[in-house]
Amino acid sequence: TPIPAATPTATATPTCAQPDAAGNDFAAAAPLIPDGRDVQEAICPSGDVDWWKFPVQAGQEITLFLFDMPADYDLSLITPGQGGAASSERFGAANDEFIRFVAWETGDWRVLVRGKGVADWSSSQPYTLRVQKSWACFVPDEPGVSFDTAGVILPSLPQANVSRPHTGYICPQGDEDWYAVEVSGGQLVAINARLTHLPANYDLYLYSPDGVLRGSSQEAGTTDESITFWANDMPGAWRVRVMPVGPDAHHIDPYTLDVRLSGLADLTVLGIEVTQAIQNFAQPGVADNSLSLVTGKPTMARVYVGVNGAAGPISNVTVELGIYQSWNNTPWATLTLGPQTVPNQAVQQQRLSRFASFDFLLPPDWQLSNTQVLGARVNPGPTAPETDYSNNLAYASGTPRHVSPYTLNVGLVPVRARNGAGNLVTPTLAGADLNDILTYFRAVWPAPVKVYFKAGGPLEGDRSYIFPANASGCGDDWGDLLDDLEDLYDGWRNRPPNAYVYGLLHPDVPGGGGCGRVDDRGAAGWLRPGDGPVMAQELGHNLNRYHAPCGNPGGVDGNYPQYRDPQGNLYPGASIGQVGVNVSTGRIFEPANAYDFMSYCGPEWISPYTWDAILRRMVSPSALQAAARADETPHLVMVGRAREDGQIELPRPFWIEPRPEGAHDHPGEGPFSIALQDAGGAPLFTRHFDRRLYDDHHTPDHFREIVPFPPGAARIVFRYQGDVVRTLPVSPNPPQVTVLSPNRGEVWEGAGPFTIAWQAEDADGDPLTARVSYSPDGGATWQRLAVNLSGSSYTVAASDLAGSEAARVRVEVSDGVHTVADESDGAFAVSLKPPLILLLAPADGATLRPGQPVLLQGLATDVEDGPLADEALVWSSDVEGPLGVGADLAVYDLSPGRRRITLQAADSDGMVGSASVEVYVGGRIFLPLTLHAGR
Ligand SMILES: [Zn+2]
Repeated sequence: TPIPAATPTATATPTCAQPDAAGNDFAAAAPLIPDGRDVQEAICPSGDVDWWKFPVQAGQEITLFLFDMPADYDLSLITPGQGGAASSERFGAANDEFIRFVAWETGDWRVLVRGKGVADWSSSQPYTLRVQKSWACFVPDEPGVSFDTAGVILPSLPQANVSRPHTGYICPQGDEDWYAVEVSGGQLVAINARLTHLPANYDLYLYSPDGVLRGSSQEAGTTDESITFWANDMPGAWRVRVMPVGPDAHHIDPYTLDVRLSGLADLTVLGIEVTQAIQNFAQPGVADNSLSLVTGKPTMARVYVGVNGAAGPISNVTVELGIYQSWNNTPWATLTLGPQTVPNQAVQQQRLSRFASFDFLLPPDWQLSNTQVLGARVNPGPTAPETDYSNNLAYASGTPRHVSPYTLNVGLVPVRARNGAGNLVTPTLAGADLNDILTYFRAVWPAPVKVYFKAGGPLEGDRSYIFPANASGCGDDWGDLLDDLEDLYDGWRNRPPNAYVYGLLHPDVPGGGGCGRVDDRGAAGWLRPGDGPVMAQELGHNLNRYHAPCGNPGGVDGNYPQYRDPQGNLYPGASIGQVGVNVSTGRIFEPANAYDFMSYCGPEWISPYTWDAILRRMVSPSALQAAARADETPHLVMVGRAREDGQIELPRPFWIEPRPEGAHDHPGEGPFSIALQDAGGAPLFTRHFDRRLYDDHHTPDHFREIVPFPPGAARIVFRYQGDVVRTLPVSPNPPQVTVLSPNRGEVWEGAGPFTIAWQAEDADGDPLTARVSYSPDGGATWQRLAVNLSGSSYTVAASDLAGSEAARVRVEVSDGVHTVADESDGAFAVSLKPPLILLLAPADGATLRPGQPVLLQGLATDVEDGPLADEALVWSSDVEGPLGVGADLAVYDLSPGRRRITLQAADSDGMVGSASVEVYVGGRIFLPLTLHAGR
């Protein structure tokens, strides 16, 4: 409509251009083109009103300006229903009128312009009216606006009756919305994207994860849009794009987007294996999970998922593991792993590879029993399409029995010996090599393991540790070391139940392997990475285990089982027969290609047979400490060598020690005998014995016999097959010994070294041998510091000596048979020490797989308190803060990135020790290397 321009004239009587372009009432309102252009019109004659109308969509913001007024005009906004929406009624022609208003309904809205009073009109001068419309976005634009920034949405899964529609807004003008939908691979997935409830003309596009356009829907107007695409093994984040057609297609009204996935695979739980190192599972004739579990030991539940109907591995699969009470359908606690990719494999194959299964670490309070079972639900969301969602929950078959064995307390003894250059070297019981050995040993051993450290410095062991070439077995030098270790064990009088000592040689000492006698209390090996299996075998010998039949060992265990594969074919000798898992490192050991650590073949792990056997032994240790010592009487401890030809060699003195009366009265049997005779030749006690034939590999010549030492014993007669082979006279006079220092009042602050000195003599002139013990509690308990000393002093390192205000030393001296002892006359003082922390796992600098639980492992031992309780071990992270307590702590929620993990423990004196490692959670990022052409 052309707008007439006001043309000033000189006529006396003002005239109006009647009718003007505007209407005179609501119904007759003239249309405005609300494009921001100005409209000029006059209020004329007096009483004239101007009505204008313009289309508005709900949600649009209307802005009205009225200016250049020749008189005082007012402005009103009227709704399509003739209601007053807003008015601007300022006084004076100079004051422009202004309205801003958000329309709540769609339709033709009106503007009314009129004079405030009857005099407010002009025939010569128009007013100017401007209308602007714009969009106010009430909802932030939540999805991304490009392929890369697409917002993630969950799909609908019609076969699971799961509907997850999303609403979105195209706003402000020019907006478009991108969404990402994770689609699992390994199967044919129908992707159906639907766009409905369109407020304007929007179109729909579908892109595969590689950015290729796979489909589009471009219906006219507000007609629904729909795309269907069959993705055959095209996993990853697909993108859906909602795009308006034309600039005006934005609106406050939402659209509805629904991405539906359907697939041909069927996810199921094939089984749940509960393992701590080795487990019976998925093998004919053996009940699942029938191998006992050790209470308190880290436990892994491996969930195996089946993908029936899938062509390949299915990605984007999640598993929820729950502990269920009495087969109730609702778990009282759950853990979730994933999404990860599931191979199209049978259980037997999945067991052999890490991360094919969903490997959960169970929290310590998940105690499995007859009333509490594990259940696993695959695809719990659900987020991956499959054909049947009703078969996704399964319970663990078989309920592993939990047993609570004694803790194995290993006293670690550094052994000083000569390296290849002939220099004496002492191993340092700290660092990565010790961590390696202890981590393996703790992982494979069917009982909790704690460690002590020998006090007062290393054990002197200046011998050759190369196995003799001309004889089977470890030889006499190793035998002497084991005898020394046994003396240390005997002198560890406050030792806990189930204690053993394990000697460690410096890596530079020539030789390799280790030695341990069957049914003994001490063994030894090297402090070398990878020597954890040696420690396991030697301590296994101590616990009565013989060799498993691989690598041609002596002393083979005839009862070691012959394991078979599921088809019934024999596995190699000494193979472990089931799948082993190092729960600490995640390493898998194959049934046929890993060997029991009691064999000479590797890689070494543990068989169900050895697991059961050691566990039984650990549940009821055969040689628990005798409770009472009140009725101890003198006994003679005799250690020596009995050669195959009957010769007796006595490389070390005998010792008289108090032992429980009657504990060693048995006559024994075998071709050798020891008779204690009085001065007249009458036998006072006789013991028969044999060589350690069963222990063919490890110092078979060794004998150790303990007999009551009766008063009046004058000689000791050894016989072999009835013939006297050696006679040892008991000299008439016992020796004498006096402790010179420390004797009273000394203060040993710090590490020292300090000197223990004594004076010893013997009226018979016999050579004397001494051994030294230390008591931190005024003589109530003793720990042996040194054995086999020929001099009259011993230099002690005090850094690992228990602190005390009531410390004493004791020196025992033997003249071959007679034994005497002296103690410090009074107390001396030794400074207190903080706990020693061994942070075993994760290793410093380790990269941890994101989304997987992390096992934090450590030990803390204190020279005053011994090994600290698990509750004393406190873990923290400089990112997450406190992580929890315990020797083995599974952590599920480490965020990606770098962090420092610290293990800290306090002893009963309040002294604190700590250790920390730096680890990185997440995949390593390798920046692309740019090569520049050389000049
Ligand atoms: Zn062996």
